[in-house]
Amino acid sequence: MEKKVNQTHITLTQGDITQQHVSAITNAANSRLAGGGGVDGAIHRAGGPAIMAECDQIRQERGGCPTGQAVITIGGDLYADYVIHTVGPVWEGGKSSEPELLASCYRQSLKLAVENGIKTIAFPSISTGVYGYPMEKAAVVAIEAVTLFLKENERFSEVRFVLFNADDLKQYQRLFLSNQPKI
Ligand code: ADP
Repeated sequence: MEKKVNQTHITLTQGDITQQHVSAITNAANSRLAGGGGVDGAIHRAGGPAIMAECDQIRQERGGCPTGQAVITIGGDLYADYVIHTVGPVWEGGKSSEPELLASCYRQSLKLAVENGIKTIAFPSISTGVYGYPMEKAAVVAIEAVTLFLKENERFSEVRFVLFNADDLKQYQRLFLSNQPKI
């Protein structure tokens, strides 16, 4: 399933983020850029040690990456040339700026992609694993944030959401079919 915003195709697919043939994939990282489970572990396993070497360097220079921000590294052994590491909020009930911080992850990742000439980018569902953000709420924020960014920026050819399981994909598909998702 897909929709178009200006020149950009927003697409939905079920699968593994590490296997995507795009210029950049996005990692749901932690603020120390230290690797971990879930998407983070899968990306470092598939991409090899060159990615962690750059994360180590960024940690030494800047102390890591704050929640809602993003940093970029090479893609190592991945098909993707780059990995954009963004740090989603931990869900604490929704009153600790979680929606704003999650929207910021998508915006800052897209901004870094623009700055690096990236035209195709894939996102996993940030914060909805170990960080506990409810999937249906996170999907609304993700689609809204990406759509708003693309309305003002025409440099991408594709933004792909890669959902790990069928239920998550269905959640996104439902929102795609409703014209005006509400945050
Ligand atoms: P966070 O710590 O931000 O919650 P997680 O990695 O724990 O990040 O999970 C984020 C989402 O990514 C979850 O919905 C999980 O099902 C999904 N996921 C886990 N592994 C992969 C993968 N290899 N490709 C795509 N999505 C994945």
